[in-house]
Amino acid sequence: MTQVYNFSSGPAMLPAEVLRRAQQELTNWQGLGTSVMEISHRSKEFIQVAETAEQDFRDLLKIPSNYKVLFCHGGGRGQFAAVPGNLLNGASHADYVDGGYWAHSAIKEAEKFCTPNTIDIKVSHEGKTALLPMGQWKLNDNAAYVHYCPNETIDGTAIFEQPDFGDKVVVADFSSTILSHEIDVSRYGVIYAGAQKNIGPAGLTLVIVREDLLGKARNDLPSVFNYSVLADNGSMFNTPPTFAWYLSGLVFKWLKEQGGVAAMEKRNQQKADLLYNTIDNSGFYRNNVATANRSQMNVPFQLADAALDKLFLEESLNQGLHALKGHRVVGGMRASIYNAMPLAGVQALTDFMLDFERRHG
Ligand code: PLP
Repeated sequence: MTQVYNFSSGPAMLPAEVLRRAQQELTNWQGLGTSVMEISHRSKEFIQVAETAEQDFRDLLKIPSNYKVLFCHGGGRGQFAAVPGNLLNGASHADYVDGGYWAHSAIKEAEKFCTPNTIDIKVSHEGKTALLPMGQWKLNDNAAYVHYCPNETIDGTAIFEQPDFGDKVVVADFSSTILSHEIDVSRYGVIYAGAQKNIGPAGLTLVIVREDLLGKARNDLPSVFNYSVLADNGSMFNTPPTFAWYLSGLVFKWLKEQGGVAAMEKRNQQKADLLYNTIDNSGFYRNNVATANRSQMNVPFQLADAALDKLFLEESLNQGLHALKGHRVVGGMRASIYNAMPLAGVQALTDFMLDFERRHG
């Protein structure tokens, strides 16, 4: 069988070693004669899985002890509602930085809870999409917090700076970049991420919340979104997505074996450099994002002739290079190269791209 590399933006590729292990123990986990997904979330066996996964996640991101880690349902979009529901604390405004599709979607949801101050940071630099540096973001005094998205999965843009806004509460949607590079968690009030891109299966959402921000949720917020309720119940107020939690735990162990987040950051840089250099050195492929804001996780690119898109997708699929079709909003192609994508996968993609260019360029 052809080696398959899956460039899907999410749900996305998982480490092959992790899937093999999960397969081996699927029907007889820890010798119990049953699957981990069939046992009670309150059993001592599952509590052990849950606690180990949390500790490994904490180790990987060096999460300070004054932060809670919540394992939730509801995805990134659930957090678009949970964030204002938990953090407004009676305020009517919050700052929302608009850098692309997902940041904008968070603003739309926040409008149900407050009047967001929208800070549009999209600019053009030498004809390419760029984002204003943090120093030029005009934050407002009336804002309960500032929300931004450091990696726009669809637009293929990224903000690599880390926030330094004094005592402002910073909230960030790390859905498509969590664990891909080192960050200083202490600069954030809340970090959240759907698991289905850089962590594990869909259905699990990780929230990292500073303890002093707990206890401020509005009364009518559904309890399953209330950070304090989740924290007080060890993320088991309702039945958590146990299989996704278990599998994410295996991914955290795998990440540690790979050398942790610093090692992933190095590898992700190599992968992104290889792909962007291939694009930039060709007259056939184009990426429309200014160099400083290019995502290392999601790389959109266009062919010189859009009429060749269909053929590119057919041929790439035949070579085991899956899910390269760009999002309908951007068109063209998109390669998502999260942690689980090996350098060999990006090498296979760039080899194919060069060959396709030779034959059709
Ligand atoms: N935020 C970002 C950056 C995303 O990429 C996505 C989904 O792709 C979402 C939020 C929405 O996540 P979900 O589908 O888990 O609600």
